[in-house]
Amino acid sequence: MTHDHQPFLRVAAGGSQTAACRRVSPGLLSIVIPCHNEEPVIDATHDRLVASLPATGMDFEIIYVDDGSRDGTLDRLEAIAARDRRARVIELSRNFGQQAAMSAGLAHASGDAVVILDADLQDPPEVIPEMVRRWREGVDVAYGRRRSREGETRFKLVTASLFHRFFASLMPYKVPVDTGDFRLLDRAVVDAVCGLPEKRRYLRSLIPWAGFRHEPVWYDRHARQAGETKYSARRLLGLAGDAVLISSDAPIRMIWVGGLAMALVGCLATGIATLGWTGSGGRQEGVSLATVVAVAAFFGGIQTLAVAIVGEYVVRTYREAQGRPSWLIRRRLNDPVQMPRSQDTRAA
Ligand code: UDP
Ligand code: MG
Repeated sequence: MTHDHQPFLRVAAGGSQTAACRRVSPGLLSIVIPCHNEEPVIDATHDRLVASLPATGMDFEIIYVDDGSRDGTLDRLEAIAARDRRARVIELSRNFGQQAAMSAGLAHASGDAVVILDADLQDPPEVIPEMVRRWREGVDVAYGRRRSREGETRFKLVTASLFHRFFASLMPYKVPVDTGDFRLLDRAVVDAVCGLPEKRRYLRSLIPWAGFRHEPVWYDRHARQAGETKYSARRLLGLAGDAVLISSDAPIRMIWVGGLAMALVGCLATGIATLGWTGSGGRQEGVSLATVVAVAAFFGGIQTLAVAIVGEYVVRTYREAQGRPSWLIRRRLNDPVQMPRSQDTRAA
């Protein structure tokens, strides 16, 4: 078992000349695919990829990261790896979540460029040659931008669109909207992102944070070909909250605004009460108990909310301080580099 999630830090030290050379030669393209319970679709995904990738003119490896699937995904992946050496499989020791699965795939990719792709064929592999073309022109991150989205409920479309825009507005650097994880990254970007020490990652903000040259590649997103989404409304909400709290300190600033607003209201109310008291010749006006309770509950609620927000940051700081790896690997198939047995006794 191993948790080698930051194996190499070859950050863009080579500079643009190295990058340019790399992009002219055929080079190696890695495709990273996080998979959780994707048995019904995974064979079709592999076939579509193998049919689409020769158009890139690059050698390729496909890295399937099995994120604790409980169906027959792993059996399917083993069969694929047995008949196609270009298919690598990283089996995580349990379900660590899509972000961890993608990060594990990135950390093990050896390509000059790496594409992240969902397993369900929502993002068509046929777009990858266009991403590679942009990369050869000098773009470091060619991200898939959705022109349309089939097979999603109206509720999901609206909430996703609103969230993307809200999220982008919180970030001090440019985060593309209507964009998922489907994107091509130059080796320098992969190394920069994999070299960061933080364990909890949200790649949709981390990759833009790294900078470099980003350009969109427009495409139509299809419906999932088979199987079901892994994200219930509740899980999506949790993910959205986590994304904000991992990527931004804006919620803390909102507490400032809330606190100042409350203090202002308090000052005004005190002023009005004092004037009213004087104006009525020293006679105290009566205030109903219900009003007092309502006001106390309102301000008590706001204060508790503020404490909860701070608490969320404390929890995340605590988790980072624990320093546990973001994922653990049980087994790897068709791995190009044999790890020492002490680190990964089951590497195939
Ligand atoms: N996924 C994963 N781990 C999880 C949940 C999802 O690796 O815990 C993978 C999943 O197999 C798929 C990708 O992440 O390849 C996106 O998941 P899904 O298609 O369910 O998300 P949606 O497109 O509905 O937002
Ligand atoms: Mg999907």
